[in-house]
Amino acid sequence: MIKLENITKVFPSKNGNVTAVNNVNLHVKKGEIHGVIGYSGAGKSTLIRLVNLLEKPNSGTVTINGTELTALSNENLRKMRQKIGMIFQHFNLMKTATVYENVATPLRLLGLNKTEVKERVEKYLKIVDLGDREDSYPSQLSGGQKQRVAIARALSQEPEILLSDEATSALDPETTNSILDLLLKINKELGITILLITHEMSVIQKICDDVSVLENGEIVEQRSSIELFTDP
Ligand code: ADP
Ligand code: ADP
Repeated sequence: MIKLENITKVFPSKNGNVTAVNNVNLHVKKGEIHGVIGYSGAGKSTLIRLVNLLEKPNSGTVTINGTELTALSNENLRKMRQKIGMIFQHFNLMKTATVYENVATPLRLLGLNKTEVKERVEKYLKIVDLGDREDSYPSQLSGGQKQRVAIARALSQEPEILLSDEATSALDPETTNSILDLLLKINKELGITILLITHEMSVIQKICDDVSVLENGEIVEQRSSIELFTDP
């Protein structure tokens, strides 16, 4: 489903170049929840942004469902990106817009008509259990509720893949669990493949099928999470 091959990303910096991601090979299977775990600075955030080419690799290829993203024109890349939703640690909601408008706005930009937009917004707010909060503003919501809005916004574009960039890192343990349960439900019931990055082993243990361990920009281990937790 997602294939990164020999991906390297170098950032120029004052003190010489930083190799954030170093010759990474990653294979995420269709229908799985794949976790990438690593310490701060390991390159996780860069890696996940390379999947939808928010960062352009210096070398290597990204292939989604057999289509090589790194070979596409900007217009075709934009189309492929619709298959890839993304959620973030700090939710990235529009503060001056209601919950409804946060979900509806990207759908209008996709060209959906008024009825289609309304149907999608209502459907996905219901799935995240926020059907009754359409008119609230983000400031009136808890952290967990804000992340649910962000999840509804991502799902409403009906992606095949969801990328999660530390989606639970700003949340308390109880809220984290409820968001992880929601991600599990999305994976099982909607069949969406999930690639997530985290620095927390508990996140991997709770929902991931496979796990890759990232250290200094390199994948040092890749296995099923059951193996990771049963082998010494
Ligand atoms: P993580 O998400 O695991 O904390 P990052 O991908 O954010 O790791 O960062 C990996 C390395 O790349 C770090 O050394 C970081 O300072 C560097 N880095 C990340 N983004 C940039 C950037 N835009 N410019 C320069 N260096 C960056
Ligand atoms: P209709 O008249 O098409 O049945 P509504 O009167 O419910 O639909 O909404 C009209 C338009 O207002 C919708 O197409 C939508 O763009 C927007 N809208 C609906 N509900 C909300 C809401 N809670 N917050 C912001 N905008 C909304």
